[in-house]
Amino acid sequence: TYVVTEACIRCKYMDCVEVCPVDCFYEGDNMLVINPSECIDCGVCEPECPAEAILPDTENGLEKWLELNATYSAEWPNI
Ligand code: SF4
Repeated sequence: TYVVTEACIRCKYMDCVEVCPVDCFYEGDNMLVINPSECIDCGVCEPECPAEAILPDTENGLEKWLELNATYSAEWPNI
């Protein structure tokens, strides 16, 4: 799965949402998250993010962000 990380906070770009083929982005007040159980790991969103906030969960040190993406995608509205 791909994970939205800290650089997304207060970013106003939504380019990632537009390209996602499975609509697995969810929106809170300050950032977006990806639902890890819906993401199909296509990678299309990663280069679209101007803040470079979207990373594959295979990168080191993203455990906390993966957990936050999972938690918040269950609570926030789908966009
Ligand atoms: Fe959507 Fe693909 Fe990005 Fe996953 S990797 S959030 S499926 S665009």
